Amino acid sequence: NEALLEVKHLKKHFTLGKGQILKAVDDVSFYIKKGETFGIVGESGCGKSTAGRTIIGLYDRTEGEVIYDGKNVHEMTEKEKFGFHRKMQMIFQDPYASLNPRSTVREIISEPMEVHGLYPNKKERMEKVYQLLEDVGLNRDHANRYPHEFSGGQRQRIGIARALSLDPDFIIADEPISALDVSVQAQVVNLLKGLQKKNGLTYLFIAHDLSMVKHISDRIGVMYLGNLVELTASSNLYSNPLHPYTQALLSAIPIPDPDVEDKRERIILQGELPSPINPPSGCVFRTRCSYAMDACSTLKPSFQEIEENHFVACHLYNKNVTGDSNRSQVAV
Ligand code: SF4
Ligand code: MG
Repeated sequence: NEALLEVKHLKKHFTLGKGQILKAVDDVSFYIKKGETFGIVGESGCGKSTAGRTIIGLYDRTEGEVIYDGKNVHEMTEKEKFGFHRKMQMIFQDPYASLNPRSTVREIISEPMEVHGLYPNKKERMEKVYQLLEDVGLNRDHANRYPHEFSGGQRQRIGIARALSLDPDFIIADEPISALDVSVQAQVVNLLKGLQKKNGLTYLFIAHDLSMVKHISDRIGVMYLGNLVELTASSNLYSNPLHPYTQALLSAIPIPDPDVEDKRERIILQGELPSPINPPSGCVFRTRCSYAMDACSTLKPSFQEIEENHFVACHLYNKNVTGDSNRSQVAV
């Protein structure tokens, strides 16, 4: 197995007051191969950020395992953890919130190197800072400025430079483009792609819709209410979505060419996203699914390989479950 990261039946539950349990991540499994980009897509509140934070070890896990390069992330010694944090870095949605406003760009980018004792020679460390600035499309004149002097896209570039300062192998990008103007989003995605090629990086790319993630991901997992509901190669996900939730997400993406008439039926999701404190019984998507049948409220659909490398959690594809599906009401 050439997987660099393996996530096996990962659960992350938070205990709230009054014995309530928030099931932010509730049984998620996938792997990521070296050099690959794996996308996780889902609405806000689906647990995708919590999954990312648990994978990098910011949160302990409730159940399951995260194996990085053969080592269990949640069972590492302090020394192993320190080394692991060099190898795996995270980029955040709001670079402004994650950049200290009182620090110069130079300080922001060099701080991780100081913590890890890399480039102890100050002059060499500064050269590395300048190199990183160039790598992300900025220049050395930016080094003495403060975060507020930059645009959103530039701030994200600073965040990326800082993440790269420890020469990581793996980057978790948690909605790195969601807060940016559409015109800037493609630039940042292209930058990340270029850096991946140049530095041999592996990415976990978290996004809240399917519009941009296609351009960077090799495979995509769709998450809903703490569960993965579909996982396949990104081209296949767009051409052959099987889960009703994926179909709804895809129908919400506008066709980019204004001259092409959009004849697709827009699938509107019914109702609100239920609370992960009290998720629906059976299939977590059933309260918003137009195909829901009796079995869906009692039986949790297993995450099954329906065709090669295409996993879906839905009773519509389980020959053993039959029911009164009203699927004819919805155009596919
Ligand atoms: Fe819809 Fe049932 Fe499939 Fe869930 S299992 S997505 S409720 S048809
Ligand atoms: Mg989030």
